[in-house]
Amino acid sequence: MSNISEPILPGGTIGVLGSGQLGRMLGLSARQMGYRLGTYSPDADSPTGQIADIDVVAAYEDLDAVRAFARQVDVVTFEFENVPSATVEAVAEIVPVRPGGWVLHTAQNRLREKTFLSNAGIPCTPFRAIAGYDQLIIALSEFGYPSILKTAGFGYDGKGQWRITDIAGARAAWDALDGTEGVLEAFVDFEREVSVVAARGADGEFVTYCPVDNVHSHHILDVTSAPSTLAHKLAREAEAITRSVFEALDVVGVLCVEFFITTDGRVLVNELAPRTHNSGHWTIEGAVTSQFEQQLRAVCGLPLGSVEMVAPAAAMSNLLGDVWPAEGSPDWAAALRSGDVKLHLYGKAQARPGRKMGHITALGSSVDDAVAKVKAARNTL
Ligand code: AMP
Repeated sequence: MSNISEPILPGGTIGVLGSGQLGRMLGLSARQMGYRLGTYSPDADSPTGQIADIDVVAAYEDLDAVRAFARQVDVVTFEFENVPSATVEAVAEIVPVRPGGWVLHTAQNRLREKTFLSNAGIPCTPFRAIAGYDQLIIALSEFGYPSILKTAGFGYDGKGQWRITDIAGARAAWDALDGTEGVLEAFVDFEREVSVVAARGADGEFVTYCPVDNVHSHHILDVTSAPSTLAHKLAREAEAITRSVFEALDVVGVLCVEFFITTDGRVLVNELAPRTHNSGHWTIEGAVTSQFEQQLRAVCGLPLGSVEMVAPAAAMSNLLGDVWPAEGSPDWAAALRSGDVKLHLYGKAQARPGRKMGHITALGSSVDDAVAKVKAARNTL
C-alpha cells in the first residue's frame, strides 16, 4: 500500500487539501527545501494560499477542479481532515495521497475511529454508538453520570458535545443531536492530557517526538509544553500506542494521537488527527526537524529527520482572536521584548474570539522556565 519507488525531490510540488495555518507552516518548510506548494480549499486569501505557488479556491465537491489541481502536483497531503471521501478518491486516481484516504475516512468520524481503535486492541475511552434514544438510556445505565454525548461526524467546529449529568440532560442532549449519528463516551477522570506527534515514511521508518503536556481552555488548546512531565513508563506507553496506531492504519505522513492519562494511571486514546497538530508547533524552534518538515519528508519518500529537542524544554501558547483589541492589532513589540520568544502569525485578516490567529514559542532550561516565558509574552498583549 505504501511503497514509493521514487522519492519526490526538491523542485517537486506538494499539494495540500485545506488552507489553514498547518498548510502555511508546511508550505514554509517546503519553500525552505526548494519545493513548490499548491493548496486547495473553498477559502480565498487563506493562510496557506498567501504563501502558495498554486492557490485553488473551489468547493471540495467540485471534482473537476479537484482533478485539475491534482494534475499540477506530485503528491497530496492534508492539513484539514473534513475533506469528503469522493474528493480524496478523485485525487488518488491521479497522484499519491499520503496518508491514504482510509486514514482520513477513519479519523473523520468518532465512531469509525473508536471502533478501529478497539478492534486493534488500542485502549481508548469507553464508548457506545447511539442511533436512538433507547440506546442512549441503555448506554447511560452502563456508564453512569456524567457521560458525554458527541456527534460521530467532526464537521461541527468544536461544537457537538453534551455533558449529561441526569435524565433531563439525556433528553436535551438527544434532542440537540437532532437525528445525526452519535457516540456516548464514559466520562474520563483524567489527571492530564498529553499528545504524541509522530511520522512514518513510505518504507515504514517511524519516529516520534516526545509526548507533550496540553492544557486546554474552553475546549481549545492553550499551552503545550515539551517534554511532558509524565512518568517515564507512561510516556513510553503513549509512544508505543502511537506506533501501533500508525502500523494498524498504515499511515505514511504525520499523525497526532491525543491521550487522556487517567487518575489511576491508564493511558487512553481520546482522538486521532491525521496531520500535523497544534501541539506540535513547538517543534519549529524546539526540535532538530519540525513536524512540518517531517510531514514533507514522509510524504515525499525521503528519510525522516531527527526528532531530538534542541533545548531541555519548549513551550507554545496559542494566540486566539480574543487578544485582539477592538481596533488595530496587539502590541507585538511588547510581546517580543524578551528576545527568547518567537512569534508566529497566520495572516488571518479577521480576529474572532476562539479563532487561532498565531502562536508564541519559547525554549527554556526547564518546562517551568519555557512556560513562564510564553505566558509572560502573551500577558503583555
Ligand atoms: P474532544 O473534542 O473529543 O477532544 O474533546 C475536547 C475536550 O473535552 C477534551 O480535550 C477534554 O478536555 C474534554 N473531554 C472530551 N471527552 C471527554 C471524556 N470522555 N471525558 C472527560 N473529558 C472529555
